Amino acid sequence: QDDQFKKVISHAKEYGYVFQSSEIYDGLSAVYDYAQNGAELKKNIRDYWWKAMVQMNENIVGIDAAIFMHPTTWKASGHVDAFNDPLIDNKDSKKRYRADVLIEEYCAKIEAKIDKEVEKAAKRFGEAFDKEQFLATNPRVLGYQEKIDTTLSRMAKSLENEDLADVKALIEELEIADPLTGSRNWTDVKQFNLMFGTKLGASADNAMDLYLRPETAQGIFVNFLNVQKTSRLKIPFGIAQTGKAFRNEIVARQFIFRMREFEQMEMQFFIKPGTQKEWYDYWKETRLKWHLSLGMGADNYRFHDHEKLAHYADAAADIEFKFPFGFKELEGIHSRTDFDLSQHEKYSGKKLQYFDPEENKSYVPYVLETSIGLDRMFLAVFSNSLKDETLEDGSLRTVLALPSVLAPVKAAILPLVKKDGLPEIAREIVEDLKWDFNVVYDEKDAVGRRYRRQDANGTPFCITVDHDTLEDRTVTIRHRDTMEQERVKIEDLRKIINQEVDM
Ligand code: ATP
Repeated sequence: QDDQFKKVISHAKEYGYVFQSSEIYDGLSAVYDYAQNGAELKKNIRDYWWKAMVQMNENIVGIDAAIFMHPTTWKASGHVDAFNDPLIDNKDSKKRYRADVLIEEYCAKIEAKIDKEVEKAAKRFGEAFDKEQFLATNPRVLGYQEKIDTTLSRMAKSLENEDLADVKALIEELEIADPLTGSRNWTDVKQFNLMFGTKLGASADNAMDLYLRPETAQGIFVNFLNVQKTSRLKIPFGIAQTGKAFRNEIVARQFIFRMREFEQMEMQFFIKPGTQKEWYDYWKETRLKWHLSLGMGADNYRFHDHEKLAHYADAAADIEFKFPFGFKELEGIHSRTDFDLSQHEKYSGKKLQYFDPEENKSYVPYVLETSIGLDRMFLAVFSNSLKDETLEDGSLRTVLALPSVLAPVKAAILPLVKKDGLPEIAREIVEDLKWDFNVVYDEKDAVGRRYRRQDANGTPFCITVDHDTLEDRTVTIRHRDTMEQERVKIEDLRKIINQEVDM
């Protein structure tokens, strides 16, 4: 499991999908950059979601609200009151939160020790010092690292088994004594604010305290009536949005699963009070179908219905996905009642009611929400697609079997050799196809190696131009997953590719 996850992270780096942010400065914890292929994959996932939610639904429209919002928004939503933060609002979450804080402190202490060891060794060995090697072989460092790993994996395991008794036991162990020195030195849990603060206004005297939004949903709620009036949509209708959200997560050690800056894809569906149960069921089913449409295996998904609900919800479920580290939340479906709109009415003093022509009365609509993390979806797709296969001849191949609709590059065009006019024809094909698809040209190395490179990169098609092409304008098209090759006419390429990659 661990090994598979490590492979995912290094493959994402090696093939230009995800880099640690500010890597040359040793990175920023739980912040990542999407590289040339990652940006394409992420965009394709976003487009796939947008098409299903907005383009295909007459009664759902999309907006793009600002990240900065009036600070009262976060009072109304309940995010400002530190420990009543909706992000940690029930008893179990609090227990988990406390464990998170303690583990973070524990790991930070051990990491500081590791840093000291590195510093000492660097001084001792001077020029000859190889940090990577030292970290990988020094017994003291390995011992420290093992302490971190066992604590983290124990926490992960107890969360996965929903074993809160063990989380509690872990908290007690960490609370009683500093595991490194054995002395009792833990103090009270610090109050953390999960929101990032900033200031609006250049002069210090009259600057206004702002927060970076911790969820995109509120941008939809505060615009609810503006959108309804200008679109003249009737209930039931939805407003969708994708965009960045920011949370000062405490334990954020699972690559892009839990980030401090991430992107959400959310849809708020406004409905008549009393109809929430039927819409809740509808959206649970509809969203699961969307996931299944990508063909990543029905066994990899399951629902987790919440028994303990956040204060704003009257029903909630997660769609969980089987990540390399187990089943974890990928998307949430929440029946949020009229909580948010009523709160905004209260705090803004503005009416946020819908006039229902059929009922001939006004009311505050109920809301059904679907909320999915784009980065988490990226990790689901990427980790599920990465496979090592043993071929018939006994050799190994690494293939990134991404759903073709999402693949960053749809086809690689390869001249068999770098002469005899083959590169020119290959270039012609690139020039033609690039109007419709993201394609690349590759002439370096033997063609077998080029195939493997494209397999590992997730490219569904390789198109090879050879000497027969000069005679009959046909090429070989190779399918990534089956490795089967067909001879086809150049003029049919567009249709063949389109059949597989069209959203
Ligand atoms: P979790 O329990 O994993 O922290 P959550 O219940 O706080 O998630 P929501 O507030 O419901 O999550 O947010 C909706 C979706 O946004 C989640 O299903 C997840 O896909 C995504 N998400 C939330 N927090 C993060 C994060 N720190 N990094 C990446 N994605 C996130």
